[in-house]
This record gives sequence, structure tokens and C-alpha cells, in this order.
Amino acid sequence: MLSSFPSPFRGEKDSLAEGIDEAIRELDKLKPEMEGGAAFLGTNPALTIDFDNVKKSVLGPKMKSSKEVIKDVIKLFEGLPNWGHPLTMNNVNPQGNTAAIVAAILSEVFAPNILEGEYAWNIHQAELESGGILANLAGWEAENAGCVYTYGGSGCWTYHLKYALTRVLPDSRYKGIRTDAKVICSQQAHYTMLNSTDWMGLGMDNIIRIKTDVDTNAMDMRHLEEVLKDCRTKKIPVASVVCTMATTDASAFDPVEEVRDLIEKYPNPQGYGKTLLYCDSVIGWSWIVFKNYNFKTNLLGFSDEVLPYLEKNYNAIKGIFYADAFGVDFHKTGFSPYISSTFVYKNAKEFESLLSRGVPAYLQPRSPYNPLNYTLEVSRAATGSMAGWATLKFFGHEGFQSVLGGILENKVYLQKQIACYPELVCVNPSDYGLVTLVRIYPEGSNARLQFHNELGDPAYRRKLIEHNKLTQAVGDTLFNWFRSGKTINGKCTPYLSFSTGFRAAEYNRELKDKEAVIYAIKIFPLNVSITPEVMDHVLLCVIAARDEVKKNALQCV
Ligand SMILES: *Cc1c(COP(=O)(O)O)cnc(C)c1O
Repeated sequence: MLSSFPSPFRGEKDSLAEGIDEAIRELDKLKPEMEGGAAFLGTNPALTIDFDNVKKSVLGPKMKSSKEVIKDVIKLFEGLPNWGHPLTMNNVNPQGNTAAIVAAILSEVFAPNILEGEYAWNIHQAELESGGILANLAGWEAENAGCVYTYGGSGCWTYHLKYALTRVLPDSRYKGIRTDAKVICSQQAHYTMLNSTDWMGLGMDNIIRIKTDVDTNAMDMRHLEEVLKDCRTKKIPVASVVCTMATTDASAFDPVEEVRDLIEKYPNPQGYGKTLLYCDSVIGWSWIVFKNYNFKTNLLGFSDEVLPYLEKNYNAIKGIFYADAFGVDFHKTGFSPYISSTFVYKNAKEFESLLSRGVPAYLQPRSPYNPLNYTLEVSRAATGSMAGWATLKFFGHEGFQSVLGGILENKVYLQKQIACYPELVCVNPSDYGLVTLVRIYPEGSNARLQFHNELGDPAYRRKLIEHNKLTQAVGDTLFNWFRSGKTINGKCTPYLSFSTGFRAAEYNRELKDKEAVIYAIKIFPLNVSITPEVMDHVLLCVIAARDEVKKNALQCV
């Protein structure tokens, strides 16, 4: 049994060190040998889980060797998307950086529990220092700010809602939520608003969704003002207004400063606390690293086309300064492993005292920092805080700037290439984010004109829906190709995805018509191995998939 656990002492033959070394080498064998290989691990792309019988499993009678078990573990990775592969561009799923992966693994070896000081000891530096660095980037007084690592961007949303409800409905911690306070966010806010309002007991019907601007996809300030005015007149308290920064597909940023002004203009009725302003910046946060970048001297040598994108993104994200709190997903645009999200708040004293509970009798405060008094979770793994902190330490301003700017160089190249194909149209040309959304039309189409009509003219509704179906079929074909290891021009096809409605048609701003929305193929080139040649190949594959769909449709007729 002793050899089944890591040795507590130095110098002995250690099953853990050997096991990890061997396991990583075995895992690496699942990577493709050369660049042309498929974007999944191993050789078998099929789902091999026996879904009919898997739950009939029972505990085995005998002990196995850890070697055997690790072999079984490695088998489970067969077929998994290879996130670092240059052909993986399906979503905001980057490969973790080496420092962050190692930091996360180490925190599994000697498991600190970051619920309180005694069990975390110096490991708490990771959470505390992350809070300081992120608050400084936001332009806040870092000594008065703080952060808690939690279970994702959705956890950050939930934290904000708890904070808001506690502030606005002071009785709610003991008496429960008895008032229909409202949570206001844009039509393009992330669907996790449903999770948070549901689980927090506020109820999903208490979300008010603000229309978005036809061109920028950002929250419409006139509509927001109407809603806030209306709540004020009817004496309905507003728990929070959420600015999404950026939205997942359209990369839209809501104007935080203007939202702040409106919150000040329409305060909650007497007896309720002040409306909270939260930035759901879990995707867009990392643009803040351009804070110290001199766009004129441009020391990192970004192209003239990319420079304005960087500046625009920085100018949009710096609005988090006006928020009470913002969310950070290191596992998205921080290139870290899951789950490494943190909820950053401006006023630590307020947040931590509003949510504070007494110290439980069986834990003694051995350090000045004991977040268990106000966190949602009790035991908290250090993996996320270690991954996030290691990433901040590893990249610094310049590392983040290089990775983000490099991705934009690829994106700008891709957009230029799209413009060369009459049957392709980029449908998010005016957003400055990392994702490119593209629609493909039948051969001989003028995609730009057709899309323009479908977007704005209700007379083209039928065509819009028809071409949405085409987009979906192309997306599914590409997925099947990726999964079957198909090659085009000797190279495997990319792993892409598609959006079934990243925005509404212009005449459907109220979203009354579920079908009058824009589908698009999604190209999210989020890793550092991607090159312009890979982008050229991606477009050829999209066109080939369209031809395949058309061919199959003809055969059906
Ligand atoms: C991804 C995302 C979320 C959810 O975050 P998880 O880390 O997946 O829990 C919330 N909001 C936005 C804008 C997102 O992009």
C-alpha cells in the first residue's frame, strides 16, 4: 500500500514522480506526428463509451496497479480535441500555457485548500496577488480591492448576483429573497444569466434584457434609460446592471461609463441599497494588458491593420474601471487550463463584510486571510488560482500583448482572404475581437449583397432561413470531416463550429421571431501555432464543405 501513495520523504523511489513522467510521455504519444495530422488526440475519432451499459458498472473486487489505471486513464483521452493543434478553431478553448499547467498540477500534489490560511499558508499569495494585479490593471486602488477564484465565468456571474442582492435587499440573507428585484443585461448577454438567477432563487423572469445596437451589438443606452426610468417610477429595485465585455460571438462591449451614469441618475427607491454594476468581462478582460502599450512607437511591431484593433479593444475594456466588480476567465483569453476564473471586486471591505458569516468553531484563523467567511464554496482547490497567478507571472504585459496581437494578425489576414471570395461574407466585420464569423452562399452568389438584404429586409426572411440551414449543414459537414480525419489537399480539415444566431435580423430587434436570426460559421483561431497558410486551408475547406452539402442535396432530389 505504501507504494500506492507518493512518498512523504525526499530521495526515495517515488511512485508519483515516476508515474507523472511516464504518464505525460504516454499522453504525448496521442499527439499527431506531423503538422498535417488531425486535430484530435489518438487515432480513433469515434465515441467509444458504451452508453447503454456504462452505468451498470460496479466496483471491482481487487486492487489494480496504478500503472494499469493510468493506462486506462490515458485511453480516455483518445479522440479528445487537441486544443493546441493549429486546426482547432472551434471556440474560445485555448491550450493552457506550460507554466499554468505545471502550477495547477503541483497544487494537486500537495493539495492546499484555499478556504483559509491554515490550509493554504503561502499558497494564498496566488489569490491575493492576482487580486492586486487585476485591480491595478483596472485602475482601482488595489489595497482596497480583492478577488476570489471560483468555478467559471458562470461562478463569477453568480457571485455578482449574490453581492447585488445582498447589497440591494439587505434583509435577503436571513429572510430570503421576497422582492422581485431586477437584473438588467443586454440581449446578447451570456446564457449563464439563467443559471445564476435560477439557482440564486431570484427567478429567471426577473431578468430584463436590453436591446442591442444594430451596428455595434452593444447595449442600447436609450432603451436602458427607459427601463431604469420605468423601474424607478414603479418603485421596483434594480439589483444590478451587467455589461457584457465582450460577448462570446459578436465580441461586443457594452459602454460601462454610460451605464454608470445612468445608474447614478436613477437610484433605487428608498429602503433598497445601491444598484451594482458588474462587468461580465470573462472573455474581454485580457485586452486590459495593452494599458501601457505605446501604439505610436509600437515596439512589438504589430501591423498597421492590427494596431487600431488593439487600441479599440483596450479602449473598450478599460471601462471596467467604472464597475463594482468584473469577471476574469484565465481559461479563455488567459491561455490557462480549467477552471481558473476569478471574480474581482473594487471594494473588498464592502463585499467581504456584506457576505460575511461567523468563523466556524472547528477552524482557527492562523492567517489574516480567511475567505471561507464569505465564499460560496467551502473547500476550494488551489488549481485555478495557481494557474491564473502563474499565467500573470509568466506572461507579463509583453507576453499577453504578443499572444493577443498575434492572433489578431491571423484574424485580419483571414478577413482579407474572405473578401477575395464572392460567395463568402464576414458577418462581424466591425468587431475587433478574436473570432471571425462567416456565411457561405451557393455558388455564383454575391454573398455580401445577399447578406445585406437578409440582414435588413423582411422580404428576404425566407432566404435568410434557407441560408441559415445551409450554414448549419456546412458546419455539421465540417464537424463530421474533422471527426473522420478527412483530408483536403493532403491536409486534415479544421475543427470549427457555428453559431445558430449570434444576432437578430435588424427588423427583429425584439427577438419576437425566433427564426429571423443570423447563423454563421465560427472561426476562433486562438492558438499560437496558427499561420496564414492554415487560414487559407480553412477557407478552402469551408467551400469544399458547401459543395459537398449541395452535391448531397442534389442527390436527394
Ligand atoms: C464563457 C462565458 C461565460 C461562462 O463562463 P464559464 O467559464 O464557461 O463558466 C459567461 N459569460 C461570458 C461572456 C462568457 O463568454
